[in-house]
Amino acid sequence: MYFSKLYAPTLREIPAEAEVASHKLLVRAGYIRKSSSGVYTYMPLAQRVLQKISTIIREEMNKAGGQEVMLPIIQPAEIWLESGRWNVYGKELFRLKDRHDRDFCLGPTHEEVITDLVRMDVSSYRQLPLMLYQIQNKYRDERRPRFGLLRGREFIMKDLYSFDREESGLEESYQKMYDAYTAVFTRCGLEFRPVEADSGAIGGSSSHEFMVIADSGEAAIVYCPECSYAANVEIAPCYPAKNEEETPLLLEKKLTPNKTSIDDVATYLGEPASKLIKTLFFQADDEVIAVLVRGDRTVNEIKIQGVQACVVFEMAAAEKIKEATGCEPGYVGPIGLKKDIKIYADEEIKTMVNAVCGANESNHHWVNVVPGRDFTVSEYTDLRLIEEGESCPKCGVVLNTARGIEVGQVFKLGTKYSNALKATYVDEKGQENDIVMGCYGIGVSRTMAAAVEQNHDDNGIIWPVQIAPYQVVIVPVSTSDQQIWQAALLLYQELTAVGIEVIMDDRDERAGVKFKDADLIGYPIRVTIGKRYIEENKMEIKKRWEKESSLVAKEEIIEIVKKTWQDSL
Ligand code: ATP
Ligand code: MG
Repeated sequence: MYFSKLYAPTLREIPAEAEVASHKLLVRAGYIRKSSSGVYTYMPLAQRVLQKISTIIREEMNKAGGQEVMLPIIQPAEIWLESGRWNVYGKELFRLKDRHDRDFCLGPTHEEVITDLVRMDVSSYRQLPLMLYQIQNKYRDERRPRFGLLRGREFIMKDLYSFDREESGLEESYQKMYDAYTAVFTRCGLEFRPVEADSGAIGGSSSHEFMVIADSGEAAIVYCPECSYAANVEIAPCYPAKNEEETPLLLEKKLTPNKTSIDDVATYLGEPASKLIKTLFFQADDEVIAVLVRGDRTVNEIKIQGVQACVVFEMAAAEKIKEATGCEPGYVGPIGLKKDIKIYADEEIKTMVNAVCGANESNHHWVNVVPGRDFTVSEYTDLRLIEEGESCPKCGVVLNTARGIEVGQVFKLGTKYSNALKATYVDEKGQENDIVMGCYGIGVSRTMAAAVEQNHDDNGIIWPVQIAPYQVVIVPVSTSDQQIWQAALLLYQELTAVGIEVIMDDRDERAGVKFKDADLIGYPIRVTIGKRYIEENKMEIKKRWEKESSLVAKEEIIEIVKKTWQDSL
């Protein structure tokens, strides 16, 4: 492809709303353009990258036994009502009506549609196991679409669904997918880590997320440097730290004027934050619940949702808090709450003695609080977020932390959807059973952006060779010098002939301009043909991720390119 013909208009300006590198660079380098919030057009360079990622995914899905299908994007409300998710999915679901006023949605995921398909056609154990997948646009009206392709409202996902006779079959399918995902992200040239994950709204018993390691990642993970343990912090179990033993003192109310934050109260009373009890209120469906953690800890909302099953879960509104406590936020606490408010407390709260908490009265806190003596807790359990320096739940070694971008997730669904939608099969004994399911997603467009997050510098993108839009750019420093141009042309033909994808920068521009664009777009290899070619028959080759270039003869260039390409496969 000649650069002059390529539809990849580069921009000098960075889009104002772009916060992360992938968003800035993909727009600047002419890969994507925004259509509306969270909705993007993929231009030719992006399309090539997406197709490479998709090809790798297809090959691995097919190898694992998957068969490709294409499911409808427009999905009828009926099947969502059957699964019980029509009312649960909330505002993220793009809903629409047809001319007959019938409800539909744009698929954010396809458990319902695929279970509906399989229940129509699968009835016998002989038809199982089965793995079906597709690569398609998904629609989610995200609360905060941002970071370009990382969190879109329209995005590309590969989703595979497995159907098995029993748990042991699901185990096998799950392992196959886990291995296939490992192969996919390895082949994409990414540094990643599978971590234990919450199975969230999709439901099910067990789950792993595949995280591309990048500082800009939205997810925090912990992993053990010794054993294989790795988890999303959302689900990593925490062990209660030992609180100091003390003699319980008499409960006492203290004036804490205008001291509303943990730090202010702690400083004012001369106590460490770990002596304070933090009280938070959540709305769990129709119920308001109180959650207590130590003042120096962060509450973990995923863990709370594990204890109090509910559909709607959010911070309680200010007026609800006032109703529960009779007081403004900042001075709230667990003593003397309205009767029907359930109090969940983190395990560390149980052994606290002479603690501090809000007095449910403006400008006042209780001191010498003893949980159990001064207030009653409905349940003590692990409700906090793990922190740096805590130990591995498997082997006790201090855990490392990292940030990651979730590019894929695998779930064991069990019979949640087959049971709700009555997708059953008849076994050898003539007995009818629910099909056991799993589901497995990869964010294809997010993977492209994650690759950029992990592989870039100040000048632009550094594509892993496997998923680069083109592997090589040839830069003739002059297009009018026939000797240079002919050499460039010959190299272009020879590389193309061996299956290498090449861009010829045929523009009548200064070499500096061409280098800048080449770095921005991120071709793995740049070959420059200039003065040294005329003088000594040498071309300059530079790998995008290396600082130095080298001068070599044309034959050697072809060998280096071929080797770099083959090493990446
Ligand atoms: P997140 O927690 O980031 O919102 P999720 O857990 O809801 O994602 P899944 O339902 O597991 O997402 O979807 C499978 C994959 O689809 C994710 O691992 C991710 O790579 C991708 N994905 C999900 N939401 C988006 C989005 N809004 N934009 C781009 N990719 C997405
Ligand atoms: Mg997920």
